[in-house]
Order: sequence, then C-alpha cells, then structure tokens
Amino acid sequence: MEPIRYYSTNLQSEKVSFREALLRGQAPDRGLYMPARIPVLDKVFMASFANRDYPGIAFGVLDAFLRDELPSGRLRELVEDAYDYPVPLEHVMERKYVMRLDQGPTASFKDFAARMMGRLMNHFLEEENRELYILTATSGDTGSAIANAFYGLENIRVLILFPEKEVTPRQRKQMTTLGKNVEVIAIDGKFDDCQAMVKKAFGDPDLQHLNLSSANSINIGRLLPQAVYYFYAWAQLAGRNNEKATFVVPSGNFGDMMGGMIAWNMGLPMDRMVIAVNENDEFPDFLYTGRYSKIEPSKNCLSSAMNVGHPSNLSRLVALYGGEMDEKGNIARMPDMVAMRRDMTAVSISDKETKASIADAWKEHKLLLEPHGAVGWAGLAKHLGNLPESQKEKLFVVLETAHPAKFPEQIREILDFDPELPPSLKGLEDQEEKYSHLAHDYDAFKKHLLK
Ligand SMILES: *Cc1c(COP(=O)(O)O)cnc(C)c1O
Repeated sequence: MEPIRYYSTNLQSEKVSFREALLRGQAPDRGLYMPARIPVLDKVFMASFANRDYPGIAFGVLDAFLRDELPSGRLRELVEDAYDYPVPLEHVMERKYVMRLDQGPTASFKDFAARMMGRLMNHFLEEENRELYILTATSGDTGSAIANAFYGLENIRVLILFPEKEVTPRQRKQMTTLGKNVEVIAIDGKFDDCQAMVKKAFGDPDLQHLNLSSANSINIGRLLPQAVYYFYAWAQLAGRNNEKATFVVPSGNFGDMMGGMIAWNMGLPMDRMVIAVNENDEFPDFLYTGRYSKIEPSKNCLSSAMNVGHPSNLSRLVALYGGEMDEKGNIARMPDMVAMRRDMTAVSISDKETKASIADAWKEHKLLLEPHGAVGWAGLAKHLGNLPESQKEKLFVVLETAHPAKFPEQIREILDFDPELPPSLKGLEDQEEKYSHLAHDYDAFKKHLLK
C-alpha cells in the first residue's frame, strides 16, 4: 500500500511525510496536518490486543501509521520507554468505567502525547544528526509537561521561562528538579513577558542557527499517540466479546477526543463519542444548529485546561467529516452534519454541575474526580438521561484527564479532605532545585541563548 502522507486542513500546502509534519508542527499555510489515509486494523489483530500491555498496544496502533518511516524495532523501544506507568480502569457501576490517564510524570493525560512526540522527534533528529532547541514560556503546567516529556533526550535541549511570582512552588519544582537537558529560567516579570521574549527569539535572525522550535500542542506527533488509550480501554473491557464502547471525553482543544475519532476510523468498535465541554459551549451549539461562533474571550471555569472558546483541533474534526475550516474558524465547506450527529453527542456542563458531579461521584461510588474528569462524569449522566432503557446497559468509559491531587483546593472545598499525592508528585519537596534568574529584558535573554 502507498505510504501515508499528511495534508494540511487549509489545503494550501503540499502533502508531507510523517517526519516532516512532526518536525514542522504547523503546516506553512497555518493549517493542521492530518493523515490522508487512516490505516484500518483487522479484527483478528485487534482481538490480540486483549493479551497485550499498554506499550504493546501502542506499538500495534502506531506502527500502522509509521511503518514506512520508522523501523519496528525502534518503535518498540520508543513505546516501552515512553509508557512505563500504569493506566488504571476503575469500575464504577454496571458497565461504567473511568480510565485514569493521570499516572504519568506530570499527572495529566498530556504526558501520553508529549512523551511520544518527544521520542519520535528525537529519533528523526538523531538520524539527521541534528539538534533542536525547544523554547517554552509557561504559567505552570505546560512547562512541566514539556520538561518531563523531553527530559534526557539526546538531540533536544529544552529551555523554559516562567514568571517568578506566578508559579506555585509545586509547579516550579516539577521543572527545576530535573536537570540534564532541561534548563529553567525564572523571569522577573509576568507570563506575558515570558511569552513575548520567546516569540521574539523565534523571529530573531541572529538566533536562526540555534534551530529553535516550540513543542506545539497541535503537532500530529501528539495526536496519534492519543488514539492508543481508546484501544487499550476497549481491549481490557470488551476485546474478548467484541462489544462496542462509548467514550465520554472532557474536552477543550479537542486533541484528546480527536485521538478517539482516529481510533474509531482505524476500526475500533465504538458506539458513540460523547464530548463534554464546560461553559464554553461553542461546539455543542455548532453540532446542533450548524452555525459556528467562537466564544471570545473564553469563559473561566473550574476545569481551567478546558477554557477554550475555539478548539484548535476542530478543523481536524471538520476535515474528518468532509468539511473545511481554517485556523480562525471560518468554514469554507460544511462537514456532513448528519453523520456528525449520528456519531457524536456534545454536552455542556456548568461549574455548578461540575461541583455537584465531584460531590455525587464521591458520595455514591467513592469515585474521586477532579474538575475535568467531573465534567466528563456529569456528561455521562446527562447522556444516559437521554437514552432509552435498553441502551443504558452498554459499555461506557469516561476519561479522567488529571490527578485529583493537582486540584487540592477544589477537592478540599467540596469533599473536605486532601487527596493523596500520586507517586510522581511525591518526594519533590526533598529534591534539589536548579534554575537561574533573568530580568524581563530581551537583550539579556538573547545573550544567554548565544552563550
Ligand atoms: C489539556 C487538558 C484537557 C483538554 O484536552 P484537549 O485535548 O485540549 O481537549 C482536559 N483536561 C486536562 C487536565 C488537560 O490538561
């Protein structure tokens, strides 16, 4: 079969290989890369996933995309290195499960994508004998996810700027206790100052030779690994009897749920995708009215990582249904709305419902959720409420995207206790920190980069 090429959702750039799409991040026409063909896994092969561990399934899924560009033996090493932590499936009631994607080094589901993207980038850079210098400004969580994902990779250096006074001690320690190829600088300024310095560096001709790059969240190298855990959940819970699953995904920029849509298109037996958003309800509105309007500025809700008024991956979903949407949200061609409504349900959950969801899940099931997972759990309840009795007994899996210990204030307020820290966040207190300080002065920063 033809090797898989990647097209831009804006349709103005050439199709490229995976390697190119990965190292570029965004297409030159500002669109997002999508596979021109999605490989379909055969049923017998998928059934064999029931006997595999997480890295084994990651290998099976990713090899279908990468086999023309990455030797199997190498891919096996990369997935085993990236996925060395558990992926618990918590049984809640009947055929209802919560998949906890919070056991990675930064206790959020973003570890799954970032760790694989880092390893894939490093592999291709190694082949070209090239180095990449990743610059990131962070207000807390992105920095630690990137730092941990790229930590120890030979051909990638990472530099993170953070606003000295705007980051919590725990967030800071998640970045500053690593060392090796991860350098961290505290800036005497605000997050916007850090961001401005990084942006200026990207455009500075004097720094071109440093091969600067951002670890872009819309990279295709982050999307494909997010298809894997859908296969994993299905293999663990339904693989042997071939039951179809419905997934409920708390969503912001839609990277997570797009992983599920890719899995579905690869042949994963699924009934439906339920997208649960917070009060930023531009997508449910679009799905049911066919009219799209961004929410600007986005609303501030408890599930802060989902405060998105225009999901960056929406153009990928639209493309999957035959439509065309540019990065600003303008639609040149409508997707097949009938097919979208057949496959998907979208629900918006208010902050009040989110809090009630945390309280009820704990009271009724001893299920501990943080605000993002609670949006998912409330989304499941809403969806079940609209189903006929005969459909309620089916298999449902809600994704929990972060560890409750990352949100101690909210949990304490609602449940009146402190969630226990996961192993990845324990012991940070005693580790040695290493970082330097700079004023928010671009010239000083540039001098530092050139040193
Ligand atoms: C990023 C994030 C989300 C949203 O994921 P998207 O892929 O942007 O939809 C949900 N929960 C947590 C904890 C996150 O960090």
